[in-house]
Amino acid sequence: MKDKEFQKIDAMLQEKYPILKRPHFDERYHKFNDEYTIYQNWGFEGLSVVWLKQLIEPMMEEIYKCYERHGETPKLIVEQVKEKWATLKFYYSLDEDHRQAIHGIDAIGGAGIRLYPNGEDDSLANEIAAIVRKYESKSREVCIYCGKKGEIRPLRWRLTLCDDCYNKRLEQMNQKK
Ligand SMILES: [Zn+2]
Repeated sequence: MKDKEFQKIDAMLQEKYPILKRPHFDERYHKFNDEYTIYQNWGFEGLSVVWLKQLIEPMMEEIYKCYERHGETPKLIVEQVKEKWATLKFYYSLDEDHRQAIHGIDAIGGAGIRLYPNGEDDSLANEIAAIVRKYESKSREVCIYCGKKGEIRPLRWRLTLCDDCYNKRLEQMNQKK
C-alpha cells in the first residue's frame, strides 16, 4: 500500500506536524533502532493514503489546535500508529516524563494511554485523549481503500471497507478459488 502518493503525504504530514517527524533510515527494512519509538522506526503501519488524509491529517490539526488553546508547544511523543483489527490505533505519550511502555498498552487492548495519570486535573491530556479516541472510532467507518463510508468486513484480515470495495474484494477472492 505504500506507493509514491503515500510517501508524498507521509512526508507532507511530517513537515507540517513536527511531532510526526521520523529519522531517515537508509534501508527500507532496517534493524529496529531502540533509540527511537516504534513509530519512528516503522512509520504508519498498515495505513492507506485515504486514512492518512481523512484521519491522521485532521487528527493532527485538532491536536495542534488543542496545544495552541493551552498555550503550549506540542511535545506529544508518537509511540506507534497502525491498523489493527480494522481500526486505527494511535499510541502516544504526552511527553518524555510520561513515556508509556508500548507492550503494556497493547496488552490492555490499547486502553493504556487513556488511563493517563492525573486525568482530572489535566484537561490538555483529556482533550488529546478525546481527539485520538474520536479518530480511532471514526476509522471503523472509513473505507481504507477509497474513504467512502464503510464498515468492518469479515474477511480473513478484517478491514473497514465500503460496499463497492467490499464487493470488489469478494469478486477477486472468488476468482482465485
Ligand atoms: Zn471503498
